[in-house]
Amino acid sequence: MDRPFVAEENRGEEFATLVISLRRHLQRRQRARIRILPRSNPGKIESTVAKELALLGGTVDDLFADNAEALKAESLQELRAAIGDCRRCKLCSGRTHLVFGVGNPNADLMFVGEGPGRDEDLQGEPFVGRAGQLLTDIITKGMGMKREDVYIANVVKCRPPDNRNPEPDEVAACEPFLKKQIELVRPRIIIGLGKFAVQTLLQSKIPITKVRGNWHSYHGIKLMPTFHPAYLLRNPADKKLVWEDIKKVIRELRDENT
Ligand code: URA
Repeated sequence: MDRPFVAEENRGEEFATLVISLRRHLQRRQRARIRILPRSNPGKIESTVAKELALLGGTVDDLFADNAEALKAESLQELRAAIGDCRRCKLCSGRTHLVFGVGNPNADLMFVGEGPGRDEDLQGEPFVGRAGQLLTDIITKGMGMKREDVYIANVVKCRPPDNRNPEPDEVAACEPFLKKQIELVRPRIIIGLGKFAVQTLLQSKIPITKVRGNWHSYHGIKLMPTFHPAYLLRNPADKKLVWEDIKKVIRELRDENT
């Protein structure tokens, strides 16, 4: 189908979103016990159609409305409530907690990571494990800020099994909520933590080594990509590169505040 108004680079994302909407629609049909229509007996088909159309009434409207409530949210609390006990992708089956985000709802600075790990899943808060402790040190010891001053969120809100990378359908299901969080917090600066978050924010496959340390734009918001704290735990020699990136952010925050 030719859809000239959908930018070429967004078509994959749009397709994934459609697939997810369709899958949820079919799951609702299944929950409502809407059966496949019988092949024979036109009379029976008509009454089945009438009955099933009535049942379907509630689900047709939902087909593209999965995220409508969430995307109308005017605060982070409303957004969290609208996400609810999320079943929009397969990650829901393995989670203990949905890890929404934490911090100052009016923060100037927002960190975006990949997705919860084991500790985050258990505690329901992003970046609380070993990598999280390193991020907290960057914020407190490096930037002289408190963790509560910034806002911290992830691309996906539920833990991928064995900490694997989130899959495209999982990102497509969850990314609208990250977008909405950014829209509601309206930070001046976003720090993208690691390849996965940065590639998602920039909608690009460009390697993190090429983009880190340089300013980018996320819908007009300054975006600084840097290495993920978990990567730094494995490669402590690269902490100095992250410190260079963080110093650029500190300078920018200071300039914006004068
Ligand atoms: N890694 C992430 O990307 N996010 C977390 O919340 C924890 C570890």
